[in-house]
Amino acid sequence: MNYMKTSEIRESYLSFFESKGHLRMKSFSLVPKNDKSLLLINAGMAPLKPYFTGVEEPPRRRVTTCQKCIRTGDIENVGKTSRHGTFFEMLGNFSFGDYFKNEVIPWAWEYITEVLKLPKDKLFVTIYLDDDEAYDIWTSKTDIKPSQIFRLGKEDNFWEHGSGPCGPCTEIHYNKAGVKVNNVDEFVIASDNDEIIEFWNLVFTQFDGDGEGNYERLANPNIDTGMGLERMATIMQNVDNIFEIDIVRNILDGICKIVGKEYGKNDKDDVSLRIITDHVKSVSMMLCDGIQPSNEGRGYVLRRLLRRAARHGRVLGMKDEFLYKVVDLVVESYKEGYPELVEKADYIRKMITIEEKKFNETIDTGMDILKDYMDKAVSEGKTILDGKDAFKLYDTYGFPLELTEEIVEEKGLKVDMEQFNKAMQEQRERARGAREKTSYMGADEVPMNKVDASLSTVFDGYDKTELTSIVTVMATDEDFTKTLTAGQSGYVFTEVTPFYAEMGGQVGDTGMIITDNCKAKVTNCKKNVGGKITHFVTVTEGTLNEGESVKLIVDEKRRKDICKNHTATHMVQEALREVLGEHVHQSGSYVDENGMRFDFTHFSALTEEEIKRVEEIVNSNIMDVYNVETKVMNIEEAKKTGAMALFDDKYSDDVRVVCVGDYSKELCGGTHVKNSGEIGLFKIISESGVAAGVRRIEALTGFGAMNFVNSKEKELKSISSSLRCADGDIVKKIEQQLNELKMKDKEILELKNKIASGSENDILNNIKEVEGIKVLAARVDDVDGNALRDLCDKLRNKIGSGVVVLGGAAHGKVSFVSMATKDILSKGIHCGKIIKDVAAITGGGGGGRPDMAQAGGKDIAKLDEAVSKVDEIVKKLIK
Ligand code: ATP
Ligand code: MG
Repeated sequence: MNYMKTSEIRESYLSFFESKGHLRMKSFSLVPKNDKSLLLINAGMAPLKPYFTGVEEPPRRRVTTCQKCIRTGDIENVGKTSRHGTFFEMLGNFSFGDYFKNEVIPWAWEYITEVLKLPKDKLFVTIYLDDDEAYDIWTSKTDIKPSQIFRLGKEDNFWEHGSGPCGPCTEIHYNKAGVKVNNVDEFVIASDNDEIIEFWNLVFTQFDGDGEGNYERLANPNIDTGMGLERMATIMQNVDNIFEIDIVRNILDGICKIVGKEYGKNDKDDVSLRIITDHVKSVSMMLCDGIQPSNEGRGYVLRRLLRRAARHGRVLGMKDEFLYKVVDLVVESYKEGYPELVEKADYIRKMITIEEKKFNETIDTGMDILKDYMDKAVSEGKTILDGKDAFKLYDTYGFPLELTEEIVEEKGLKVDMEQFNKAMQEQRERARGAREKTSYMGADEVPMNKVDASLSTVFDGYDKTELTSIVTVMATDEDFTKTLTAGQSGYVFTEVTPFYAEMGGQVGDTGMIITDNCKAKVTNCKKNVGGKITHFVTVTEGTLNEGESVKLIVDEKRRKDICKNHTATHMVQEALREVLGEHVHQSGSYVDENGMRFDFTHFSALTEEEIKRVEEIVNSNIMDVYNVETKVMNIEEAKKTGAMALFDDKYSDDVRVVCVGDYSKELCGGTHVKNSGEIGLFKIISESGVAAGVRRIEALTGFGAMNFVNSKEKELKSISSSLRCADGDIVKKIEQQLNELKMKDKEILELKNKIASGSENDILNNIKEVEGIKVLAARVDDVDGNALRDLCDKLRNKIGSGVVVLGGAAHGKVSFVSMATKDILSKGIHCGKIIKDVAAITGGGGGGRPDMAQAGGKDIAKLDEAVSKVDEIVKKLIK
C-alpha cells in the first residue's frame, strides 16, 4: 500500500462509489433539519433519515457522501485514544431500498484491497452472532480467510436505537500493530489496546424492531455504511493516531508554536495539545454552520468544547486568549473540502475571541468562589468539598471538574464525587425532559408525518392567492381520515395549493378551504417532516371529503402585509452591509403580517446615527420604486451574480433568486411584493443584542409603520398637554422641571437636617446610666449620613462623658453611627464592637474605631429593636 493524502482518500472513496452508480452529495450541515432526536449530526446517515424512513424521495437510490460529524459522547476519549475526535469526517455509501449485503460486502472488500491496497492478512471482520448470511457472503464472495472473521454480540454488531429500523452490522478492522490473533478474545483485547483499529462499519438495516426484542423483516432493506476518514488516513500514512495525519498534524504543529511546546516530549502536554487541536476544529466547524455559543443545546456543546480547549491552554501555561490564532490553521487544512470556512474565517476568529475572553473572566470569579468554598470547608474541619459546590462551579462558571479537583487537592481536600454525579444526573434529566420525545429516526409518530413519500403537493402561490385543486389526503391527530366534519380539526393535503408553508423565517398563510357545502378555516400551513405542504384546518360548516375538488383561498390582506415585511428584510440586509460593512450576514429572521425581525452578525450595538442611515437607505429604495423580480437559476450561476445565501442552508441545484432592482439579490423561496414601492414606509422600532456577535433589528412596514409613528405622535400630544406646553417645547419644559425638582430635593434635605439638629434636646431625654456610664441611644429617621454623624458628634459633646448610638432609616436604607468620649474607653467601651452587634440585628454589618464607628443595616422593621438593645450590648462590654 502507498501513502495517500487525506484529501486523496476522500476523493478516491467518493469516486469509487460513483463508479458503482452512487450520486455524490455534499456534506450536510452539522445542524440537523427537522430532527428533534439529535443535537448535532453524528454520522453520515443522520441527515439522510427521511430517505431511509421513506417520508422523502431520495434524489437517487444510491448515494455517497463525506459527512462532517460531531460526537460529544467521545469527548473523554479525545487525546487519550488514538482514534477518537469530537469532530471527524465520515465517508459513507447508502442504499435506500436498492442494493443489499450481496453487493456491499464485495464492494467494501474491493475498495480496501484493490483501491487502497491494504494487505489482506492485516484485515479482520466482525459480524453479528446470528448473521450467517453475512458470513456466507464474506467467505464466498471475497477472499478473506475465515480465521479473520469473528462473531460478536448485539453490543458490538447490531445497530439499534429504541424502536424502528435496525439490523446487524459488519465492521472492518486493521491490525496496525501487527499483533498475533488466534481467537476472538485476543482480537477484543488487541482492539481495546488500540493495536487493532476499527475503521468501517457496514450496517444492514433489515428489521423493524418494536424496542422489546421483536423484529419484523423489512420488505426493502437499506444499507448504511460509515468509514472514519481520519482513521483510514492513520492507516494509509502509517502514523500513530488521528492527530498525526497530514491535515491535522499541521494544526497540532501550529499550536505547539503558539504555546511554545514541543510535541512528543511529555505525555501530559501531548494530551492537552491533542485536545486543543480537536476542540478548535469542532468549534470552528460549528460556528461555520451558524451555531452560536449559549447555555443550552448545541450552543452549550460549542461553549463546553471551547472552554475545555482554553482550560488546556492554561494547563500548558497560556494566560491570554490564543485559540483564535488556531482558526487560520484549521481553515488552511480544511478549506479544500469546506470552502465556506475561508469566507467565515474572520467571523469565527472574532466569536472565539469573545468567548475565550468571557471564560478568562469567569475563571477568575470562579477561583474566588472556590476559595470561599475551601475556606469554609477547612474552617469546619472537613476534608471533603461539597459535590454540589463543585457542580455549581462546573455548571455556572465553566469550571471543568478536573480543574476543581486539582485546586482543592492542594488544600488537602477531595471533591464528593457521589454528590457531584448526582447533581450532574439531575441536570441531565432536566435537559432530557426539555427535549421533545421522538423516535431516533426523527419522525414524530403522528399521521401527518407518515404521508407517503410519493404524494405530490405543489405550491403555486407566488402570483396568486386562490385556486381550485383536489384533496388527496386528510388526517387528524390520531389517524388518517376520509372526512372532516363541522367542528373537527385536522390536516389537509391537496395536489396544488396557493398557501405558503412556513419556511425561511416567513410564517405560513392562513385563509379558507371551501366547497359548495363546506367551509373550513386554514389556521396555519407548514411542511411535514417529508416536506409535504400541510394545511392545518378547522371545519366550520358541512363536511370536507377526500378526493373532492375544493377552492383554496389565502387571506390576501395578510399575505400582502407579510410580503411587504419579507421584501423589507432583504432590503435591510443590503442597507446594513452598506452602513456597517460586508461582515454583516443574516443569522436568522422572522416575518409575519405584523412586522419583521432580522438577526445579523455584527460586533457592537448600532449607534443612533447608524440606525437612522439604515432606515433612510431602505426608505429611499422604497421610493425609488424598484421592480422585484424572481429568477430560477443554477446555484453556481446564482453565486456568480453575487446573490446572498444563508449560512447553513442547503440548496438544491436550481435556486430561486429574488432581486429588488439591481440593488439586492438573495436566494429565497419566500413571497414578495412586486415593487418596492408597495412597502410604503419602513421604520426600525428596536435594535438589541441577541448573543455575542449577533444583533437584532425589529421593524415595521406599510400601515404598521404608519400606525407606530401615529401612536408616538399621540403620546407626544398627551405629554405636551399634561405639561401645558407646545409640542416643540417638551424637551425644554422637562429639563426645566427636572432642575426644579433637584432644587426642591436639596431644600427638603436641608430642612430635615435642620429639624434633626433642632431635636437634640428631645433626644437627650433618652440618656440612661449603665454601670455608671451615660448611654444615649435613639432613632432619627430621614437624615442623610453626614447629618447623622454631625448630630452624633454634637450629642457626644453635650453629654460630656459617655457613649452615643444613633440609628436611622433614610431612602429605604438603615444606617448607624456611634461615638464615645475618650475617658470611658479604658472601661471597655468600643464603638466598633457596639455598632457591629447593633447593626447585625437589622441584618447589616460594619465597624470602626473604639471612639467612632459606622454601619449599615437592611431590615427597617428591626430598627427599633436594635436601638432598644444598645444598653444591653454596652453592658456586656464594660469591664
Ligand atoms: P468506536 O467503537 O471506535 O468508538 P464506533 O463503533 O462508535 O467506534 P461507528 O458508530 O460504527 O463507530 O462509526 C463508523 C465509523 O466512524 C467508525 O468505524 C470510525 O471509523 C468512525 N468514527 C466513529 N467515531 C469516531 C470518532 N470519535 N472519531 C473519529 N472517527 C470515528
Ligand atoms: Mg462501530
